This record gives sequence, C-alpha cells and structure tokens, in this order.
Amino acid sequence: MEIINSNDIKKYIEICTSIAKLSKCKKSKRGVIIVDFYGNLISQANNLPVGVDICDPCLRTDLEGGTHLELCRAIHAEDYAIQLALRNNPSKIKNSTLYHVKLDKGGEVGKFPGDPSCTSCSRIILLNEIKDVFLCGRLESYLYNSNEFNNLSYQFHLGKMGKL
Ligand SMILES: [Zn+2]
Ligand SMILES: [Zn+2]
Repeated sequence: MEIINSNDIKKYIEICTSIAKLSKCKKSKRGVIIVDFYGNLISQANNLPVGVDICDPCLRTDLEGGTHLELCRAIHAEDYAIQLALRNNPSKIKNSTLYHVKLDKGGEVGKFPGDPSCTSCSRIILLNEIKDVFLCGRLESYLYNSNEFNNLSYQFHLGKMGKL
C-alpha cells in the first residue's frame, strides 16, 4: 500500500464524489470510476439498489457489517462500474485503475479512507485484471495493486474471525 496525497488525484476524487452524491443507498453512498491505462475514464457508477428506488427496508439492517451482502438490494459501486465497463469498454479494463470514494454521514468525503474489506468486490477487481485500486480520502488516499487489495480484504475478515 502506498499513501498518496489526495491533491495529486483531486480530479478523479471530484468525479467519484459527484457520482456518490447521486447514490440512492440509504446506508452509505459510494462513487467509483475506472480509468484506463492512458488515464481515460471508461466507467463510473455509484452503489445502486436494483429493482427498487431505495433499499428500504434493508434486510441487512440488524446484521453484522460486511456480512450477507446478498441480502441488500444495492449492488456495490465497484461491482456495478466493472459491469458497465465490461459492457461498454471491455478491451480497456485490463491494467486499468479503479478509484473509490465513500461519503460520510454528512455527505462529505472523509479525511482518510477505510481499509479494504469487501471480498465480493476485491475478487472481481482481481478477476478482471484491474491493475490498481485507490481508496480515496479528502487528505490521504491509499493505493493498492489489485492482488494486494484482494489479499487484504480477506485478511480483514480472517482477523475478525480470529483466524490470522
Ligand atoms: Zn440494503
Ligand atoms: Zn463491495
């Protein structure tokens, strides 16, 4: 993992933020863009409830965070952005870079991003040969290669299970 000054990727963070603000997820609003090897935007998405306006009631409300993602009607922004890229720019996904922004309760980007934790996204990022992942914060952003990102996502859960 490499710590990046968020100013250096400000342009991408701003796009992610404006996309996240349009999210209809009640729990946490996310924005993701995928940029190809040459820096061109090839996909963008927020987390999107499928088949309903909002995920309400969310069946995960009383469940532990990070578990039973399949019960939420919202597809994760990473997943959705990858699916759109597969549909619209399939030849440009390999070696691309994914940027992720999460808004806090106040609707702003937090100073620091969280740690990798979503294995259902990390494994499809890896599967599609996306090269790098930025988890973006307002001050600092964290850069991972997708293999590392996937491993750390699994480690997060192994740690919670006391299996590390
Ligand atoms: Zn939900
Ligand atoms: Zn996810």
